[in-house]
Parts: sequence; structure tokens; C-alpha cells
Amino acid sequence: MRLWRNILDIILLVALIGVGYCYRDDLGRLTRELMNLAQPCAEPITYSLGEIDPRFNLTKDEALAEIEQAEKIWEVPAGKQLFEYSPTGDLKINFIYDNRQKATDAIKKIGLVINNDRASYDTLKARYETLLASYDEQKGQIEARIASYEAEQKAYNQEVELSNRRGGASREEYLAFNQERLRLNALAEGLKQAQGKFNQLVGTLNSTEQVLNKLATTLNLHISNYNNVGNSAGGQFNEGEYRRDASGTVIDIYQFNNRDQLTRVLAHELGHALGLEHLDNSKAIMYYLNEGLNIKLTTDDLSALKSKCRIK
Ligand SMILES: [Zn+2]
Repeated sequence: MRLWRNILDIILLVALIGVGYCYRDDLGRLTRELMNLAQPCAEPITYSLGEIDPRFNLTKDEALAEIEQAEKIWEVPAGKQLFEYSPTGDLKINFIYDNRQKATDAIKKIGLVINNDRASYDTLKARYETLLASYDEQKGQIEARIASYEAEQKAYNQEVELSNRRGGASREEYLAFNQERLRLNALAEGLKQAQGKFNQLVGTLNSTEQVLNKLATTLNLHISNYNNVGNSAGGQFNEGEYRRDASGTVIDIYQFNNRDQLTRVLAHELGHALGLEHLDNSKAIMYYLNEGLNIKLTTDDLSALKSKCRIK
């Protein structure tokens, strides 16, 4: 009877593999995921590097060193290996560059060092107010210059038209028109340059708004969004994300101010990969916001880990 059961199991298994919905690799991954669900932390989760956008200025080796540091945050207290790098590892870790890091880099470029703390928020807010004041001033000036340029251009066109209707310009008129046209062209060129500078200011202001909004969310400051120049993304400003899709499990990293913060984001997302949920303690690695500065587990992080991994 037992022998028949075994034979039946083998036939079933062969039939399952035969169905062919999964590639062999996927089948291996699914098996490992199922085993991990049944016995969490029994086998290390293998991870690999996916895309690293070059704008992060992070080499593959640096990224791996960062991930290793983040994995140690869990592994040292657990006393066992929970993650393992493999070029074909199941958990793919990407560094995705978008508006979030772009805004962060723009702030760095104007010489501000930003951390996820109140002091950084206050410094940035002061800088923002200065920028906003010069935005308002320059916007007024540029609008006035555009209006005056357009009026002069219109007057010029009208005079040329009038002269044409009268049967064409005299030599004197022609020279005067020519001079006026050159003057208008120079005005337009100056305006274009001023507009370019102004657009740069708008870009910086935009980035400042985004980072301010992000800090306000992270620091739980209940203030309404900064949104004076139009397209600042409010609300959602995730630094990273752990997700599962058709291709498997993925960690996407979007933004960090410095290496310590990157370690914390990575550790947080690796915690999700272990199956951990968010904790209420704002200093915890598994708190939903990256508020703390510690790159160690808090006691509640540790008890969540122990209970998940059934460590005594
Ligand atoms: Zn989370």
C-alpha cells in the first residue's frame, strides 16, 4: 500500500512538472518559497542584484556590501544565516532612480546635508522660504519683461506692416527697422537666458518641496503639503518597497540621503522578505517610516524576528 502511495506521488509530481507552466528555475524558487513558509528561516533567502541605476553612483560591489551590512542586522542577533547572495538568487534587489532620489540629489547639490530629522527639516524649510521669495520676485520680473517684449514686438510688426501698405520702406526706414529688429532679437536672447535661470530655480524649488513633503511625512509633522510650483509629489514618498510579482520577490530601493539610511531601508525591506510586518515603535527597523537613526534591531524588532524564525 505504502509503495503504491509513493509511486502515485511520483506519477503526480511528474504530471505536475509536465504541466509546464513553470520553468525549472521558477519551480525551484516556488519550492523554496513553500519550504520557507512551512519552516521560516530554515534556509537562507537567496538574493541577487537586479538593476542599479548609474545615477545612484553605487557600484555593484558597494551595493552588495550595503546589502550585506543590512542582512547582518538580522543575522547577528538571530545567530544564523538568513540571506545569501547568489548571482541567480530568488529575491531581486533593484535601485530605481526617479524623482525621489533626483530631488534628494538636487538638495545635496545646493550644499545641504539632509537627514530624517527635525533639524534638517527646519534648515530646509528656511532655505525653501528664501527660494520661494526669490521665485516670486523673479517670476514677476520675467512676466513683466515678457509682456514688454511682446508689446514692442507687436509695435514693430505693426510699423513694418504699415510701411508695406504704404508701398515699402524708404532706405532710412529700412535701416531703422533693421536696427529695431536686432534690438528685439537681443532682448529675446536675454529673456531666453533669464528664463533658463528661472527654470533652474523652479527645479530646485520643486526638489525642495518634494524633500520637505517627504520629511514632513517621515517625521509625522501634521502639516499640509508644500506645493507652490506645481508638480511636487506629495504624500507617497517610499524609500523602498518589497513586493511579490509574477517573476518572484523584489526589493526596489528608491531613495536615501546617506549610507546609514540606505542600510536601514535595506534592512527594513529584508525584514519584509522574512515575512515580518510593521511595528508601532517609531525607532524600530520595521516601523513603517524610516525615522530612527539606529542601525540595530530594537527589542521589538528582535522579538518579531525570534517569533517568526522560531528562535528561543
Ligand atoms: Zn515596510
